[in-house]
Amino acid sequence: MHRRTKIIATLGPATDNPLILGKIIEAGVNLVRLNFSHGTADTHRERVKALRESPALEWRHIGIIADLQGPKIRIERFAQDKILLQEGQPFILDAACPSDAGNTERVGLAYKQLPYDVKKGDILLLDDGRIVLQVKRVAGVEIHCETFVGGVLSNNKGINRQGGGLSAEALTHKDRQDLLVAAELQVDYVAISFPRDANDMQQARQLLEATGSRAGLIAKIERAEALKNYEEIIKASDAIMVARGDLGVEIGDAALPAAQKLLISKARDCNKAVITATQMMESMIDNPIPTRAEVSDVANAVFDGTDAVMLSAETAAGRYPDKAVKAMDRVCREAEKQPLARKSDYRVDATFGRVDESIAMASMYVANHLNIQAIASLTESGSTVLWMSRINSMIPIFAFSRHAETCRKVTLYRGVHPVLFDLNCLDTIELNCQVTDKLKQFGIVSDHDLVLITKGDLKGISGGTNVMKIIGVGQQQLFPIA
Ligand code: PGA
Ligand code: MN
Repeated sequence: MHRRTKIIATLGPATDNPLILGKIIEAGVNLVRLNFSHGTADTHRERVKALRESPALEWRHIGIIADLQGPKIRIERFAQDKILLQEGQPFILDAACPSDAGNTERVGLAYKQLPYDVKKGDILLLDDGRIVLQVKRVAGVEIHCETFVGGVLSNNKGINRQGGGLSAEALTHKDRQDLLVAAELQVDYVAISFPRDANDMQQARQLLEATGSRAGLIAKIERAEALKNYEEIIKASDAIMVARGDLGVEIGDAALPAAQKLLISKARDCNKAVITATQMMESMIDNPIPTRAEVSDVANAVFDGTDAVMLSAETAAGRYPDKAVKAMDRVCREAEKQPLARKSDYRVDATFGRVDESIAMASMYVANHLNIQAIASLTESGSTVLWMSRINSMIPIFAFSRHAETCRKVTLYRGVHPVLFDLNCLDTIELNCQVTDKLKQFGIVSDHDLVLITKGDLKGISGGTNVMKIIGVGQQQLFPIA
């Protein structure tokens, strides 16, 4: 059986070895993530080239996500690369300190605005919350702090404020340059880091569209204020990421599980896809098996209804990239067997605004109430299968498209499997046969099984789906069912 939940693997030094890249593809990666916080434009160009040339790719469709760095607020560097901060020790974040001259007394700030954004009493969390400072006073461009929780602090670590509210623009100069690289590489999705509101996403969309890219836009929910504005951000995006790393720092780790459930359910209600990210298999950076807690975390994201689960350093820099993918695959498949992951009363009371959306919803109702083995949707842009995949179901949805781009886009949608196939020129009977033959080849159906097909009367029109039909495999006509 096909796995419904999708797996995203971050590419990095560990997957630059073509053998390892091939192994993670074969282990079932559906999308890869290029992390623009690391490496140069050429690093990403080479990684995309290696992916597209990998023999393991064969007939598979793998989506590419360009994840922009965004305005991560960071310290600069230390003369000795790192320092040790003791509890109670005074420490100055100094916007005027030269970028390589940090020491145990002070360090520079990549974000020069910070002294204007903080005030006495603020709690600043450095390095994903490992180091905690309290602001004692702000003197010009110097933020004088006391160390609450000490430890080793090294170059370029991120700074968050407890409660959020730091004001950096969502798209930096670097992000704008990186957008051009993403467009050049024809990525399928662009992820925007640290958006605060719908406005940030709209601005990102304008910039993205100006490059000519048709990539989908993912909002990373990782600021306290983004969580407050989650509805408008979801509506302004094609998908969201529950970016638990930074979000956990800003809202506190204990608030994360509820935020994850809220965001996943809201995204699905708004017909958007959703990714659950960060530390999912963290211990597998160094170990060949996950902890029980990690297994449980991945399974719970599946129960929550996530479209995709993401691996970060586990694949980018870990010792066991393919084992991490395999572990995720195994845990998702098992979780998907649970009735909890299947039930859906989604949109029972809704009124639909569009014909194609209504066909998608009707199809899922029928598929979940009749003994249908598979759904085949002939799709131009993938929108019909996105609607379908918002409904929980055990029935696989095959997106038949003549566009490789659409095949890659739907790799993100839960329960949707792309098939690159041009069926547009066929007459009805021939089309039915071709679809069922293909599904037979995949081992999904056999003779006398029922398959549900959706298509548009007018072929090749995006948004034109207006037909739902049910056919019996190996039979040329509709037949009555007892
Ligand atoms: P990052 O985003 O890995 O780019 O920081 C994800 C997160 O914050 O969880
Ligand atoms: Mn982040």
